[in-house]
Amino acid sequence: MLQAAEDGIKYREGIDDIVIDRETWSALESEVEAAGGKLRAGFPAWLEPLLIRGTIAITLGRRVYLGRELLRAASADVAAIVAHELAHVRQFARVGPARFAWRYLRDYARNRRRGMSAYDAYVAIPFEVEARLAENRIRSTTAHGARVPPA
Ligand SMILES: [Zn+2]
Repeated sequence: MLQAAEDGIKYREGIDDIVIDRETWSALESEVEAAGGKLRAGFPAWLEPLLIRGTIAITLGRRVYLGRELLRAASADVAAIVAHELAHVRQFARVGPARFAWRYLRDYARNRRRGMSAYDAYVAIPFEVEARLAENRIRSTTAHGARVPPA
């Protein structure tokens, strides 16, 4: 269920501890919408059981979901993660949904076959490498250090 918060952020019932400020949220929302995406606070209920533990944000097609843990973080961290997820929105638009999913899984499987751990295989997926570059460009302009990498 979606409900409009007093500050204009749409959030699922139960997410009552969002600390990101309204201006930051609006700026990020505009940025995502300019790229043809949608920014959402909280994961959809159906998705929660499917997520790998520690997932702080995820992009499905053009929808960028920010987890509640992330929304308690400093705005600079959220901005860096949104830049990462936005890179995935652009990749998705660039190559199309089928090719995006195929390449992502193919590259992950290839990395695993080369003997990488699940985490290392994920980190080395070219789509992830590209997204992390976008993320780190934001981080390098803020005072905050790296946190848990997003999905
Ligand atoms: Zn990613």
